[in-house]
Amino acid sequence: MSSRRRLVMIPGPVEVSPAVRDAFSVPPPGHLAPDVIEAFGASLEMMRTVWLADASAQPFLVPGSGTTAMEMAVANLIEPGDDVVVVNTGYFSDRMVEMIRRAGAQAVELTAVVGEVPNPSRAAGACEDLVRSGRKVKAIFATHVDTSTAVRCDPKPLAAIAREHGALSVFDGVCATAAERFAMSGWDADVYLTASQKAIGLPPGLALLVASERALAARDARKVPVPLALDWNAWRPVMQAYEARKAAYFATPPTNLVLALAVGLREILAEGMDARFALHERAASAMRAAWAALGLRSVPTREGSAANTLSALRFPSRVDATLVGKIAERGVSVAGGLHPAIRAEYFRVGHMGYALTRPDMLMRTIEAVGGALEDSGHPVDTAAAVKAMLTELQAARV
Ligand code: PMP
Repeated sequence: MSSRRRLVMIPGPVEVSPAVRDAFSVPPPGHLAPDVIEAFGASLEMMRTVWLADASAQPFLVPGSGTTAMEMAVANLIEPGDDVVVVNTGYFSDRMVEMIRRAGAQAVELTAVVGEVPNPSRAAGACEDLVRSGRKVKAIFATHVDTSTAVRCDPKPLAAIAREHGALSVFDGVCATAAERFAMSGWDADVYLTASQKAIGLPPGLALLVASERALAARDARKVPVPLALDWNAWRPVMQAYEARKAAYFATPPTNLVLALAVGLREILAEGMDARFALHERAASAMRAAWAALGLRSVPTREGSAANTLSALRFPSRVDATLVGKIAERGVSVAGGLHPAIRAEYFRVGHMGYALTRPDMLMRTIEAVGGALEDSGHPVDTAAAVKAMLTELQAARV
């Protein structure tokens, strides 16, 4: 392949817009610089809008990745002896369970066949079982989109079940936030967390989380101290100061990323959240049309629970994981399998953020996948797949 830079179509990090790149490609400013203060404060305000959260919700913007944001939720909310229900849809739900257990809590895991989502009624049943045995449910945790399977769960009924049981609801939105609809306040959810490098459209480096008043109260009520670097009560005064357009310090924020975040969130909000969710839905259905034309089968078993942010695609017979390298040779990075049960059987393509505004990037991706299938001795009609994608993209526009 040529020396042209590879297109990054993995499920994060993702391609970023030229404006976002310009915003972070500056000599590092101090955290007290006026433009950093403004970008920080504006970003916190815009996070509420992107999360569909009301004014009572507290956004946190801290250095780290999605794992940091997950740990922050667990560290502030979960105490030894707590009982937690986890809707487990794959690799990142497993990580959540590990964190909950390390915090000394018991996790009841609800699992499903790979590619499926446990029915929310099972979460209600698990809560009722705990109550019957004299326990109190502290929280329900779920992964909005599990990046290892491309399966999306429906957070709304889970948040309602948590409310009915006086429990908190915590959602990992790392591969979903700003792309899949999530109504933080409308659904009365307690924590929705993500990282900068996915549908937010930035490089990696920021952990982003919004907590409800109820979640903040649960932090205040806890008896066991929170590790200092993750403590909402250490960070909250900093967030409040920046939102009031004053600088504050607890730990150094990645200032270049803060500048870029304000630009990225402004781009997301340019046409409103409904338009943003629709953009991802449209692109996902266009990509699914291409995969169908190439004869590729998805890991999610039901279209209704297939994520809009990425595709997880099974290798056709006689094609193996070397396909990922062949796609890379054609100038596009996609990701291999991640879920331990099917790791060698599938690959993953991210489709979120800036790339969705660039049909040429989507075309290049399909051409690279189709060409690599041919290279693997699996004949396909790549031109028909590109056409199917473009037709679907156009059809969805009208
Ligand atoms: N949760 C989900 C759903 C993810 O997709 C990821 C990252 N792929 C993580 C958590 C962890 O995020 P990070 O790699 O930024 O720590």
